[in-house]
Order: sequence, then C-alpha cells, then structure tokens
Amino acid sequence: MNVGITINGDPKYIFDDLEFCRQNGIKTVQLILGNGNPSLLFNDQMYGELQEFEYIFHTPFWFSFFSLKMKPKMKNYLLFLEKCWLPENGKPLKCVSHVGAYKHKMANVTRMRFALVSALSTFNPMMTSSNIELCLENTAGSMSSFSPETSDLDWISQKRIPWLGFCFDTEHAYAAGEDVNRLNYWNADIIHLNGIPPYVLRGGHLDRHSWTPLRKSKEVKFINKVIEYAEDKPLVLERYDHDVVLDDIEFLKNKCRISKNP
Ligand SMILES: [Zn+2]
Repeated sequence: MNVGITINGDPKYIFDDLEFCRQNGIKTVQLILGNGNPSLLFNDQMYGELQEFEYIFHTPFWFSFFSLKMKPKMKNYLLFLEKCWLPENGKPLKCVSHVGAYKHKMANVTRMRFALVSALSTFNPMMTSSNIELCLENTAGSMSSFSPETSDLDWISQKRIPWLGFCFDTEHAYAAGEDVNRLNYWNADIIHLNGIPPYVLRGGHLDRHSWTPLRKSKEVKFINKVIEYAEDKPLVLERYDHDVVLDDIEFLKNKCRISKNP
C-alpha cells in the first residue's frame, strides 16, 4: 500500500512536514501549491529534500480548462515545473489539477466532455514534449454549472492521451451525487482518499474533507473498496492535522494486516 500525505508547498512549513513523514515511514507526498504564484515557491533546499520521496504536485485552483486564457497559463506552468521540480529519477512528474466549471447557455454533459477534449488537444504539442503527467481530478460539482465527474474523466481516459492521467477523489465523488457503489474509478492513477463528513450530503456539492478521519467516514464500505482496489497506486490523504493523519495511517495498516491474514 502506497500511502501519501498532503503537505503545504510553502517553504515555511515543508521541512517540518517532511520530517514528520520520515518519522512515520511515509514515502509519498503531495505538495499543495495553492496560490498560483510559482516564483514564490522555488527553493533549492526543498528540491533536495524532496528527492528521497515520491512526490506529486497539486495545483487545485490555478486553472479552468474551459477558459480561453488557459493556453499561456499552461505554458508558464510547464516551464515552472520543468525548471524547478522534475524528479531526478527521470520519471514523469505527476501533477493533479481541478478542471474548472463549464459555463455555456446550452451546457450539458456531452458538450462539456467535448469542450474538455478540445481544450486538452490544444495543449498536446507542449505536453508531449514535457515530462509531466497531468492528472485531472473529479469534481464535487456545483448547482449552477457543469464540471467533470468521475464518469466524465473515465470517458476521457479512454481516449488514451499519453500525458493525461486521472485522479479520483472519494469525497468529491460522493458530494457530486455520484452513486459511489457503481462508480468506475479503475482507470485512476492517483487516489485522494478522503473521509466523507456526516454533514456532506450526496449531491450537496460540498467540497469538505480535511478533518474527517477515515474510520468515521460515511460510506466506509465504499472507502474500504477503494483501498482494496488501489494496490500500489498512491493513496493520498488530504488531511492537514497530524493527529488525523496518524489515525488514518493506523486505519490503513489495519486494513493491510486484515487482507494479509484473512
Ligand atoms: Zn482531492
């Protein structure tokens, strides 16, 4: 089981968080780069320390893939990542991004899917020449616009775009109103393993998961199924409180023990 935790990409916090990972045997980290300003974030010492981990970047709010201003932004983003952050082992750098909302007078799921495929195809030349795998994350959705859910990303993943991956978030799927027992998340490359808080309703579109331990999650059967299926894919916890993280790791270790000794 490849368990990762989420840490703040800000140099103020990162070194303590990496030390916490070392002490607790965590080998995968997801760095949140939340403010969209890459120049503030690069730091040689961070890069050096990260090389002992498998790392993933999460840039949740940097883009909307449906925006016309997206192409120059994407160019800068790739330049930043390539210059500063490609791992030394030569593996592609995985980056997780939210997709954004599709707003159109005639919006429906089919139009949204084709609009996304068309946006992605405009990045094709720059992405194929980079060593970056961009993983799109399923949305918690909204009441007033369309954005891609698990089934949409699964559909897109079947187009086999070589630089495109898919990140499946358990809580987003539930909040989007998806039927978690029927979901097809088998194509996911990364899993955001988030507990579903009691106040999050199916279809309520609430993106809230930071403080809910897995053992107290709604739909714990579904969470267990995702864990079982994940095998060696990164199972990334997105809690920020170390107590909750340790509680979740204990929960996952128990699952591992049980599956090895049925
Ligand atoms: Zn997530």
